[in-house]
Amino acid sequence: MRRRSLLCALAALAAAACAPDPPCGLRVCDIREADCQTMAAAAAACLRGVDPIAVPVTVVPQADFIAQAAARSMTSAQDESFRRWNAGLAALGLAPADNTASADSAASARQLGGVYSFTDKQITVIDGGEPLASLGWVGQLVHENEHAIQDARFGLCELYAGHATDLDRALAFAGMFEGEATLVEDLAGAGLFGLTAGDIPWPNVLERWQASARDRARASPRPVSLAWSHFGYPFGTGFVKGAFDVGGWAGADALFAAPPGGTREVMAGFGTLEPTGGPWAVDLGYDAVPILGDGYDYVGTDRLGAWLFEVFLTRLDDYYDKRNLPPLLRGDTLSIFQDRTTGGAVAVWRLRLSAASSSSYAFSQALSALPAARDETWTDDFIVVAASDTTTLNAVPFAPPYQAIPPAPASRPPALGANWDCALPAR
Ligand SMILES: [Zn+2]
Repeated sequence: MRRRSLLCALAALAAAACAPDPPCGLRVCDIREADCQTMAAAAAACLRGVDPIAVPVTVVPQADFIAQAAARSMTSAQDESFRRWNAGLAALGLAPADNTASADSAASARQLGGVYSFTDKQITVIDGGEPLASLGWVGQLVHENEHAIQDARFGLCELYAGHATDLDRALAFAGMFEGEATLVEDLAGAGLFGLTAGDIPWPNVLERWQASARDRARASPRPVSLAWSHFGYPFGTGFVKGAFDVGGWAGADALFAAPPGGTREVMAGFGTLEPTGGPWAVDLGYDAVPILGDGYDYVGTDRLGAWLFEVFLTRLDDYYDKRNLPPLLRGDTLSIFQDRTTGGAVAVWRLRLSAASSSSYAFSQALSALPAARDETWTDDFIVVAASDTTTLNAVPFAPPYQAIPPAPASRPPALGANWDCALPAR
């Protein structure tokens, strides 16, 4: 989607211009050929102004890649953890009730045209049947080579372990490194048309791309497990482009030392100050997790952040404040439980806003779009309580006491897609 809209804009510009030769030796070639792969690796490094990295490139048919992702094995404990987490997300309308880890992996794999493995240190090009000698595919290969360069320079698995301590931070981190690789890819695309970065109509390209990502997330059956794709590329590219405009490549490098702290910061744009002058993200401390009592098994807690809050709201009919509330989200915790009597899931999502722009009545009305949900907005926070069914919902105690996040019995399954193979930090 993005590639097509960007390339069309570039083609129109190039047709009107007297285009010089592409920079950095870029040329359109068949990416299965060794000299084409060498060119793409050298061009990525040249565009970025760093030394090239040579990594192996393999081409696999898309059907094989998806089947392999779907067949990824999990332990029975991981499977059960996935099932319980998914039941909680399904109660919020954010996952299919009958979802499986295998189906999630396959859906993620379907989004990809190429992947750089941070553990195997190699590039896989995913061949969907289109000719592999095209401007778009050369751009894709430059993008994957840029990941290899990032990995060699910054050690992305280690950075991820240190910074991606919850889902919101993981999505912001993904936006940072995907945005940087996409920016280099776009410079390659422009170069192949004989254009420069300054020729790209960035505000227009980003606005259309982000609008289309919002539409896809709203319509997707898996807006959480595919958030790395919906959110990471269009919003991450905008954020990194902002850093690049201010500080050049040194500005982009600086993001790896201090990645954005959440999707709210990324969506606000690079260099934007938090509206109240505070931090972009706060922890809820002792207000994080409800104490529901002996009738419940605690599954775990995660922070979903502003992007997924917006996606959640846009899926609730025509809630009028769907675009106004997410930028105000300073902190949130989604806690999942399993009712021991009914076996149903309970999801309690506590949201702390920097200012209330919406009446709690309107928020409560919007929640009626879910099959079994209510709000408990008697504090300054908005609290969504959702369950698998009304019997389970009606059993959830009202106004329970809260506590800090306790150790979870099982870690949350990976949410950065089938291509993410770094070890996850314990959380
Ligand atoms: Zn990428």
